[in-house]
Amino acid sequence: MSPHPDARALRDAIVRGELSASEAVEQSLEQAQGEGARLHAFLVVDAEGARARARELDARRAAGEDPGVLFGVPVALKSNLCLEGVESNCGSRILEGWTAPYTATCVQRLLDAGAVPVGMTNMDEFAMGSSTENSAYGAARNPWDPTRTPGGSSGGSAVAVAAGIVPLALGSDTGGSVRQPAALCGIAGFKPTYGRVSRFGLVAFGSSLDQVSPLARSVGDLELALSVIGGHDPADSTCLEENAPQPELAQLEGLRIGVPDALLSEGLDPGVRARVEEAIAHFEAQGAQRVAVELPHAEHSISTYYVVATAEASSNLARFDGVRFGLRAQGDGSLDGMYAATRGAGFGAEVERRILLGTYVLSAGYVDAWYRRAMKVRRLIAGDFERAFESVDLLLTPTTPEPAFALGDKADDPVAMYLSDVMTVTANLAGLPAVSVPCGFTREGGVELPVGLQLIGPARADARVLGIARCFEETTEHRRQPAPRVAEGGAA
Ligand code: GLN
Repeated sequence: MSPHPDARALRDAIVRGELSASEAVEQSLEQAQGEGARLHAFLVVDAEGARARARELDARRAAGEDPGVLFGVPVALKSNLCLEGVESNCGSRILEGWTAPYTATCVQRLLDAGAVPVGMTNMDEFAMGSSTENSAYGAARNPWDPTRTPGGSSGGSAVAVAAGIVPLALGSDTGGSVRQPAALCGIAGFKPTYGRVSRFGLVAFGSSLDQVSPLARSVGDLELALSVIGGHDPADSTCLEENAPQPELAQLEGLRIGVPDALLSEGLDPGVRARVEEAIAHFEAQGAQRVAVELPHAEHSISTYYVVATAEASSNLARFDGVRFGLRAQGDGSLDGMYAATRGAGFGAEVERRILLGTYVLSAGYVDAWYRRAMKVRRLIAGDFERAFESVDLLLTPTTPEPAFALGDKADDPVAMYLSDVMTVTANLAGLPAVSVPCGFTREGGVELPVGLQLIGPARADARVLGIARCFEETTEHRRQPAPRVAEGGAA
């Protein structure tokens, strides 16, 4: 296996003529169908569409057209993003065979920059989960140990990048679904400030929490991706009225790093804690200052998130209701067709549980006790961050409480699964930018498993958070670790 280099290096090699876009895409397709299939990274591989796009790019280049910043770069898209004419089933039987009638804004921006989508990636059904085990098509597998989860819900996108199938992928992060799989797979993932990236063409889960988010092998590629997909979109009224952020130079000298010590003590895996403490020591050695901070309401973040997210999900998913929209109707390429494509196959257990929970917390008589109360606590959590950012530049936490867990470990215990999100959901509740970067490995059951470090910044400080993450990456060796092994056919 020869993992693709960074998106930028690959694009430059194609522009220099060392290989064509078609050759780059062919390599990626081959891996998607080989290693990608063994790890179950993709739900749909769009070989035909990818080849046609790559040919067109090569022809335009031959005709002297200026290449875009992602010219010829193969990318993977989470299956809840729309690419016209390609099946986006959201990991659900209910949308099996539904093809998108239009292209999401973020995906269109990738296409305009010359990127070539090779397929739609495996995910927990409607992005609900932390392991991809809620995918109706079966879980994806972690390239570092195929008996373990790659994380979720954007697990397939993380696998596609970590296994070297594509250098760049998009996922969605509602409560950690890009940062958590990035951490468990040893790559970088960034959730932008809420509203930074248009949600037009992203199938909604929790509309006030969802953010389209990139995954890559390097922070530099995340910065490039954000500069392409970010920025205002009139089709999404919650989109910030700002241009996409450009990469920003940062330095660690003099930086004030807030460490919520409470999060570093309770229930944290010792290997994860050791790597994160080393990362903090590294920041200090580079001239940054460690500041103890308190987030007094953080302990309520999981319960708050699971009230808000399920409430929003129950209203968003009502459109797939097979009773009102008719069973077994076929998608006809229209939006009504999408809803009508709900063919009675039914939702999986987790999606059902969330619709029930969400409907309950919104129902008359309970809405004050649950939903409205959660909204108040959400406000308090956001206030904790605002206060913290009066005295620090960014916050540092582990991305996950433990490294990749074994498939099956938490599948029957929803609450244990929910607790995987304890470090990540707060950034979504407060709408803040947060990145996960590799910070080393921990040994478990005889295998090396990656550990992720999370950096959270104030709202709209996306470029700064990424700049600091890039400084960390450049001054450490973590990213130069060998690429994940090939799963020698063992991941049946
Ligand atoms: N694991 C969380 C959940 O199940 C987050 C999911 C996400 O970010 N899409 O809701």
